[in-house]
Amino acid sequence: MAAPAPLLHPDPDPSFTELLAIRPQLRMDPLAGLMLEEVPLARIAAAHGTPVWAYSAGTLRRRLATLQGALAEARLDAQVHFAVKANPNLAVLRTLGDQGAGADVVSEGELRAARAAGIPAAHIVFSGVGKTLAEIRLALSEDIQQINAESAEEVAMISATAAAMGRTARVALRVNPDVDAKTHAKITTGKSENKFGIAIGDAPALYARMAGLPGIRPVGLAVHIGSQITAGVGAYRTAYGHLADLVRSLRAQGLVVERVDCGGGLGIPYRDEPAPNPAALAGAIAATLGNLGVALMVEPGRWIAGPAGVLVASVILQKQGAGRRFLVLDAAMNDLVRPAMYEAWHGILPVAPADFTAPLAPADVVGPICESGDTFARNRGLPSLQPASLVAFLDAGAYGAAMSSTYNNRPLAAEVLVEGDRFALVRERQTQEALLAGQALPPWMAR
Ligand SMILES: *Cc1c(COP(=O)(O)O)cnc(C)c1O
Repeated sequence: MAAPAPLLHPDPDPSFTELLAIRPQLRMDPLAGLMLEEVPLARIAAAHGTPVWAYSAGTLRRRLATLQGALAEARLDAQVHFAVKANPNLAVLRTLGDQGAGADVVSEGELRAARAAGIPAAHIVFSGVGKTLAEIRLALSEDIQQINAESAEEVAMISATAAAMGRTARVALRVNPDVDAKTHAKITTGKSENKFGIAIGDAPALYARMAGLPGIRPVGLAVHIGSQITAGVGAYRTAYGHLADLVRSLRAQGLVVERVDCGGGLGIPYRDEPAPNPAALAGAIAATLGNLGVALMVEPGRWIAGPAGVLVASVILQKQGAGRRFLVLDAAMNDLVRPAMYEAWHGILPVAPADFTAPLAPADVVGPICESGDTFARNRGLPSLQPASLVAFLDAGAYGAAMSSTYNNRPLAAEVLVEGDRFALVRERQTQEALLAGQALPPWMAR
């Protein structure tokens, strides 16, 4: 029922107007074309070339405020930690950090990005199933808020490292509640067969053991059941209910549980999925964990950043194949991998006003990369688009640029932040020189 919308969908696609209607950050201006806030996307493309990512600062702030508001409304003592993996751009992190968001990081690089963006160490949580010793050392020397440990083996590593450094790590145990969030198999994380967390039945003994280990202060529990959760908040409620039971039984053993990290995963409507809203999530937290006197955290990535970003691409050419029209873009799966990786559906809108109202016909939208997986959409209703026409991929602000690669030796695309009627380059397009930098021929090949 709530499986991710596949690339090729049986129902008619939403119209351009329907796509815009639920995305107030975008509008079609009859003269300037598709606008992100007050900036025509054509201006960004003219200034910085394509493919180019554009993020709306206002949308990032509005969505963060909506989440913070929903949590406050439900009378929860909760902090929002942005999942940096969704979008690690420094300007995005600064925008969110300035409005009080902390950061959920899963690598040294993300920890450094959050700090470089000005997010205080005291607002940073380190998650992930395989933190290296170097990463644990960095987290301890930065004295971050919390490390979420995912196994007994990792708890031992953290204890030994912290003790050797003369530090105390604040550690939460990430438990695997064995619930099915009914999301795409590649992004479900809360089932017992997934690699994440500690089986909930093993958690009490490990938590008790942790309390006696040097270099560790157990502070609570963490959970994250999956990403792009659109099947309502039932799975959250079940998982949080299990966590609440666990908090009570740990306390009954005389153990201290101060915090529960509720994870991320709130889905967004890419196509027409019935996505749960922050108020429903806050309600699920309040109903289960609300009266335990624990400090709470949530770690959304996609819900905040996804709708705030677009990927603007140019048409290279329109190719008439055997019974099929192909729109070949200058963006490819190396830029936006979600369609190839998760069969994800992204709205694709023409940017020019005349293209927006022209008659539609089915087209396969593809990139120039040498594999069939480099397909963004099949049978999508789009106008005839001449070379150099612009199109915008919607909801590309999360797991977009963050998942880009240089496959086919294609440089990483530029990123732009839009603030009202202003915009600025926040990451330059990778140069051809940078693509080759760092490579060396072995001495015996010199000539
Ligand atoms: C990926 C991840 C998140 C964020 O997921 P979204 O679906 O983007 O909200 C939060 N916490 C952890 C531990 C994650 O791995």
